[in-house]
Amino acid sequence: MEVPPDLILYNGSLHTLDEQTPFATAVAVTGKRISALGTDRDLLGLAGVATRTKDLKKRLVLPGFCDTHFHFYEWAMNYDSIDFSKTINFSGMETAIREKAAQSGPGQWVLGQGFNESEWPENKMPDRKDLDRAAPDNPVCIWRCDLHLAVANSLALKLARIDEQTKDPDEGVIVRNADGSPTGVLKELAANLIREVIPQLSESILLGNMEKAIAHAHLLGVTSVHDIRLMGGGEGADALKLWQTLEASGRLNLRCQVALPGEMTDQAIALGLQSGFGNDRLKIGHLKFFSDGGMGARTGWLTQKYLDAEYGMPLTPVNQIEAAVIKADRAGLACMVHAIGDRACREIIAMFERVEQQNQSRCRIPHRMEHLQMILPEDLEKLSRLENLAVSCQPNNLSLDISMIDECVGPRGKYAYALKSILNTGVPMCLSSDAPVADPNPFAGIYSAVTRKRMNKTPVHGWYPEQVLSVAEAVRAYTLTPAQTSCCDHMLGSITPGKLADLVVADQNIFEISKDAIAETQICLTLFDGKIVYER
Ligand SMILES: [Zn+2]
Repeated sequence: MEVPPDLILYNGSLHTLDEQTPFATAVAVTGKRISALGTDRDLLGLAGVATRTKDLKKRLVLPGFCDTHFHFYEWAMNYDSIDFSKTINFSGMETAIREKAAQSGPGQWVLGQGFNESEWPENKMPDRKDLDRAAPDNPVCIWRCDLHLAVANSLALKLARIDEQTKDPDEGVIVRNADGSPTGVLKELAANLIREVIPQLSESILLGNMEKAIAHAHLLGVTSVHDIRLMGGGEGADALKLWQTLEASGRLNLRCQVALPGEMTDQAIALGLQSGFGNDRLKIGHLKFFSDGGMGARTGWLTQKYLDAEYGMPLTPVNQIEAAVIKADRAGLACMVHAIGDRACREIIAMFERVEQQNQSRCRIPHRMEHLQMILPEDLEKLSRLENLAVSCQPNNLSLDISMIDECVGPRGKYAYALKSILNTGVPMCLSSDAPVADPNPFAGIYSAVTRKRMNKTPVHGWYPEQVLSVAEAVRAYTLTPAQTSCCDHMLGSITPGKLADLVVADQNIFEISKDAIAETQICLTLFDGKIVYER
């Protein structure tokens, strides 16, 4: 006789993404797997004495979300720093710094991230003097929401020994006044000069932060992440060690595919590491490369000048990325390349074309392009011909970037966040948050993708509304497509008997309500590996 299920969720509205049974009202879970799908009557009939049953009161059930571009380690590490994502003007930023400095005491580092000056009425970039006024006795460093630019105060610059004499690092810019003195604004890798002097947290604090961050992910319905590397190699080893410690101690209640820093290509090949190695919780993902910067810092690499700056900048030269990708591809290591500007996208698509022509790939998972924030129609055409590539785009950033993109490229903004055109190429498209660059809430991402509005619901008809996705397309890009492009769709990505029971219950049905209300959707219940890890 069959074992009765441990849990039956019934009277729900299941959007399964399962081809055979796209809709159902009940699901049974046995151990960590989904054991049956169907009607309330059929499934409740399977219940045994020990089976728990839960009436969902018609609520929507979806597969657990996978955020495919999440700087999870970075997000967790900054749990204690100032979050400027809700700061609405310049003085709000100054007040937050002043308060944090007062709480921390003189000499302590004050860190923050997520400011977006292009959305403030003053539209003014802060500089060292502004931060000095707010916190003269603390080293202060704050990151812009895109993480491509940081601003440091005088004390932080002094500790990092950044002055008139300091040369710009490779792939970075120390912005200067007419007399050569630093303004405090540090673009791209110049911000790492500050990172290097910020004291490290202890392992127990780091692990505690990771656990808090995992619990936060459950509250958002996120059951899988791809943890993405930032620039600078050191962070990769720290992150991978922490993930392993969590996994070994049974505290890893999240499926994580960890990216490796591109600078470590040779070492990873020498060790024989391959993408996909690991288990259903922790896996080796892609090597991460950067072909350009971000548009907010005007370092995203464009085919035509910015209205208020030059062409942006390539970061790692394309030929260098190409040499690494060719080696990695032969060794079974998939690569992901950050490409923001239309020029960067063009170059990287051409690069992947050359790699496909000359290589017999040994990768178990496709390569990836990240962001494709601005891409021209002729390059979309080329993208559609690539066979071993997936993309990950960030609708949450769209909501943050509308004003900034209008300001820096004007009407060419119609090529930005061209999600529908990208989807139409047939290339598998995942959606993701790029947190902490943007809010990691998947419903905020789905809202942005289907409305193309700011969080305050402007512009009313959406920004270039011809590029909106349907709700079903957006949901698929957060669930099934990530599983299919990480060689785990045999166990994840849809509510299908036999797959792992990662699923979420939402408080409203996003397929039925007004699209404008989707961002306010909240998770009522998160099931991970068959266990309830969050319940409201
Ligand atoms: Zn990123």
